[in-house]
Amino acid sequence: MKSIVRITFLLIILYACSGKDDNIALEPIKKPELQHGKNIILMIGDGMGLTQITGARTVNGGNLNILRCRSIGIQSTHAADKYVTDSGAAATAMACGEKANFYSVGVDTAGNPLTSIVEIAEVNQLSTGLITTSEITHATPAAFFAHQTDRYQYEAIALELVSKGVDFFLGGGWKYFNQRSDGLNLLDSLVKRDYQVKDNLAFVSGNQKAAVLISEGAPLTYLHGRGNVLPDAVTVAVSRLSQNKRGFFLMVEGAQIDWAGEDNDQDYLMAEMLDFDRTVGRALDFAEADGNTLVIITGDHETGGYSLIDGNLSNHTVQGQFLTWLHTGSMVPVFAFGPGEEEFTGVYENTAFFYKFLEYFGLDQ
Ligand code: ZN
Ligand code: MG
Repeated sequence: MKSIVRITFLLIILYACSGKDDNIALEPIKKPELQHGKNIILMIGDGMGLTQITGARTVNGGNLNILRCRSIGIQSTHAADKYVTDSGAAATAMACGEKANFYSVGVDTAGNPLTSIVEIAEVNQLSTGLITTSEITHATPAAFFAHQTDRYQYEAIALELVSKGVDFFLGGGWKYFNQRSDGLNLLDSLVKRDYQVKDNLAFVSGNQKAAVLISEGAPLTYLHGRGNVLPDAVTVAVSRLSQNKRGFFLMVEGAQIDWAGEDNDQDYLMAEMLDFDRTVGRALDFAEADGNTLVIITGDHETGGYSLIDGNLSNHTVQGQFLTWLHTGSMVPVFAFGPGEEEFTGVYENTAFFYKFLEYFGLDQ
């Protein structure tokens, strides 16, 4: 009798292992008993180091929303093949948990695709969102959904985004969707995949997935009239994504902090920093009220070698200098708020975020 039970059990196991789904990695693998919280908002100030934060704090009269966080860490940003990273390698490390090569997005050093936290969230029926003040195909957002050894393959990156199922995305670069060398109209493809496709955040409505492409190429700078689209996009995104009781992962990028650093333009830099910080305020307000949302605010690297050589606390002015038009290799701060925030204290590599996010969600890789 026992042997019959054993044989039956063995047959059941063999049947289960020989199932028609040969891609076992795509099965939902959520482990609720390990879960720390439901939602994550990852906010990346591209090129935002400690001096960019210090300058903005001074210009803003001594305060910033970022400083509402009480758990602080430091991350090391180097790429697999270069001491000073680019945004693609840095975002790949954060999104996928492996050091990547300069100028690559979502692939390992051999060029093989890596699985990102957004892709894992999608498979596990969490909602996902991506918001940026660059083109949506630019390196930082791209590392969360695309797999390219060359980050500048914007048309290929747009094509990858269409089929990812990201529930809400907002950024610039509609030309990579409807003015393509292959003649495809990816805006039509998005509509066929049940997206509402809009060029203005204000037109988003209902429960459909939303693709919001706010400019043909790069969005405007804050100083030239971009307005409050970055903070407003976070407010709209969290109200939509939080409808999913399983939780959500939202990445928000202040992309032009980096562009201001590369231009060595302090006025541009401070305007982008304060816009990003107002956006952080929206996310923290939501997390505070919700109680089940972790907010992480960090840079992907420092840009410009920005230094404060003088300043005035009563006049709210700073005198900054830039060392370079490029990125630098300095470690950058991490600010965490919400359940599990203490996991982000200490000093660690940028690859650690991916594993900390999986642990927070109670998910396996
Ligand atoms: Zn960057
Ligand atoms: Mg970026």
